[in-house]
Amino acid sequence: MRAIFLGLMIWWTAMAAAAQDLSGLARVIPDESRIADGWFGGATLELSLSQGVPYRVFTLDDPARLVVDFREVDFSGVTADALLPDPGRITEVRFGAFKPGWSRLVADLSAPMLPDQIGMPVDTTNGRAMLSIVLKDASAEAFAARAIPPGDPGWGTSAAAPPPAPVEDRFVVVIDPGHGGVDPGAERGSTNEKNLMLDVGLALRDALRRTGEVDVVMTRDRDEFVSLPGRVALAHQVQADMFISLHADSLSQGQARGATVYTLSDDASDAASAQLAEQHDRSDILAGVDLSGTDDEVASVLMDLARTETQPRSDTLASALIAEMDAAGGPMNRRPKREAAFSVLKSADIPSVLVEVGFLSDARDLANLRDPVWRAVMVEALAAGILRWRDEDLATRPLVRR
Ligand SMILES: [Zn+2]
Repeated sequence: MRAIFLGLMIWWTAMAAAAQDLSGLARVIPDESRIADGWFGGATLELSLSQGVPYRVFTLDDPARLVVDFREVDFSGVTADALLPDPGRITEVRFGAFKPGWSRLVADLSAPMLPDQIGMPVDTTNGRAMLSIVLKDASAEAFAARAIPPGDPGWGTSAAAPPPAPVEDRFVVVIDPGHGGVDPGAERGSTNEKNLMLDVGLALRDALRRTGEVDVVMTRDRDEFVSLPGRVALAHQVQADMFISLHADSLSQGQARGATVYTLSDDASDAASAQLAEQHDRSDILAGVDLSGTDDEVASVLMDLARTETQPRSDTLASALIAEMDAAGGPMNRRPKREAAFSVLKSADIPSVLVEVGFLSDARDLANLRDPVWRAVMVEALAAGILRWRDEDLATRPLVRR
């Protein structure tokens, strides 16, 4: 038994398996795989694979999770219920393709537990490999100390992190999960935009906070209604460095599918974008908000001046997000950068974008949006885009100001 005592990250390449099966993916063998509570605390995970694969194991905090990344494993034929028949100290498990060539398994932990033994012995007679992880109960402090962010340069996510900025000039990001409360946003069956975007927004918050370099403020962190002007006002209150609104709308007009990033313009780039902006104002109005006073005539000249400086920065923010989402596999809209008069983007002095992560009205996008693994990939891409833009923007701003 090859057992490795816990470290931050464990890699192991199954040399013995290389000769066994050069074609095809490693398959999970459901009958021989199981996650269960341990007899005396902790939990065990056993995953039987048709062949050995490189893998790594790590933990994430808030909420506590165990993550296993594999050099591609075929999980078809396995269900979460079969793998975890009696949820206990592990409450839920998700798995599937993560990025091209990689698969991921995520187990939610009801209490802090850390890997105590990790191994993947290979049966030389049939080439099968058994990933075995023994989790032991740990203190919250020990767990927090060991939790690592999911992205590192070797995995093609965000670039190597620059040194943390001094506390006095923190980078403040306002994340705005669209809709909420009485306003469900788009709905398809049991799926609705407000819950999906809250999920994406919270995951993005966690991803950014884990970098230790970003202060995140949420316009909402629960299922509640916040007006569009209220969202903009909050961004000003906290002196945000940027604002990102997250959506997954239904759009009858145009071929609305694939991730799209919108910036503010009085003239919409196309009819579908105009419809989308109107839709959002309408849902605010349906929820009982009066938007008529939000564009102050007197202030408009000053606003225009501020916008002259802010607009190009919103544009570069949109481009950075598009580049990272595209690199993560999208899928992107055929014209991923668009403009319209979104009320929520009307901060004259804060670079602001509205991201349609996908469209619930499109079958392919709907399937993606319902897939937690796909959402996790998009969250990573958005976080990477935000950090990339921050660095680019910091580098160019002194020149602009001069
Ligand atoms: Zn929306």
